[in-house]
Amino acid sequence: MVDARTRQFLEWDRSHIVHPLFPLDGQLPGIVFEKADGIMLVDTEGKEYIDIASQLTCCNLGHRPRPIIEAISNALSKTDYTEAYWGYSNPYSSQCAHKLAEITLGNLKHFFFTSGGAEANEFAIRFARLYWHAKGSPDKFKIISLYNSYHGSAGLSASATGISRIYSTGQGPQAAGFVKVPPAYCYRCPFSLSYPGCGVLCAQYLSYVIDNEDPNTVAAFIGEPIQGGGGIIDPPPEYWPMVRRICSDHGVLLIADEVQSGFCRTGRMWALEHWDIVPDMMSMSKGIAGSVVPFGAVAIGHELFEAMKGQTVPGGYTFGGHPISCAASVAAVDIYVRDKVAENAARVGKHIKERLDAEFFPLPIVGNIRGKGLFLAAELVSDRKTKKPISPEVRKELTLRLLEAGIVTRGGGYMNSLLYITPPCTITTEEADRALDIIKPIVIALKTQ
Ligand code: PLP
Repeated sequence: MVDARTRQFLEWDRSHIVHPLFPLDGQLPGIVFEKADGIMLVDTEGKEYIDIASQLTCCNLGHRPRPIIEAISNALSKTDYTEAYWGYSNPYSSQCAHKLAEITLGNLKHFFFTSGGAEANEFAIRFARLYWHAKGSPDKFKIISLYNSYHGSAGLSASATGISRIYSTGQGPQAAGFVKVPPAYCYRCPFSLSYPGCGVLCAQYLSYVIDNEDPNTVAAFIGEPIQGGGGIIDPPPEYWPMVRRICSDHGVLLIADEVQSGFCRTGRMWALEHWDIVPDMMSMSKGIAGSVVPFGAVAIGHELFEAMKGQTVPGGYTFGGHPISCAASVAAVDIYVRDKVAENAARVGKHIKERLDAEFFPLPIVGNIRGKGLFLAAELVSDRKTKKPISPEVRKELTLRLLEAGIVTRGGGYMNSLLYITPPCTITTEEADRALDIIKPIVIALKTQ
């Protein structure tokens, strides 16, 4: 039984809040998070939880990183909101762009600021089309993306999104000009093949689709280096170099959606560093300001920027490049670099992965373990042979047992059957062990049916 204050919050929530990706009449978990610090959350009853998923895999620096709070408070002592429209500047957005330019890949040195990830992808798509318009090829407008992808819940980003099971229900057709191809989901290969004998057909298939759509109509391919919401789909070593080559050979731009995989999550600053390739544009958000405030950006390659000179940017967002978000981002990037956060994610991630492989993979309910750095997951199945995912009831049981034991994780993946292990990239080995020691007996005790 919770106290009167908690009951009041829950009642106001039930009466007035419509929650994302949740039934309108869904039963609330009944938890009101009130405080946050490091890897921990505390609810209104004073109960503590380890945040093993960094919320939506976004609090990459843990909760309330002090330098970010100080940067926000310093900026707020001088300014609040000033616009980026019509070419106006402020010190925070200038510093932020300069900082990001120091850490982005290749010549991705021009930034369009947004308030989040969907908006970043909207504009990556808009810039791809504007680029071809500027180059005199306005018929190149189609966007190819992957099934099982998540790029956001706005118009163009939702049309590029390939997880259609829930996201497109009751929404009618997606926008015209979007084409999907199968992802490199080796555990559930869309072609029923096995790596490496498959010859990475999923990458080759992109070439076939571009040819058949007609390269003169295709503007860009967009993909998450490792699909996050789709279930930590971590492609084989050949995949991204092949995709890069296919895009270049066909005159198709490559947009990397690093919204979830960027900012040290995979043990590198950017996930694409694992494949040593550079995209033509890159979208980013989540870790960009430590998720302390909303922020996002599209990084645009120099060649694209030069070709688009003379064009006017088609729109924008009131809060894109908000000075306070930019101040937070400067502080966040400083921490990522100074504290070698990517190295920590690689080291602790390796330790967790070893434990998952040794202690979780032998369990009958665990079908597959995958991921890089601290972008890890176990795919849970009711039958290892048929790979049938766990039922919604078992999923609910898992979430409730974890919450009872003081662990918050997130949903997602194939039929919501993934146990995400995506803690803050600053987590220590001891903290990770503490969390795994709590999670393990709960997973062991789960009935598969
Ligand atoms: N792209 C990826 C890869 C994401 O994981 C997400 C969110 O989870 C988005 C885009 C959308 O970002 P936002 O929710 O900030 O709009």
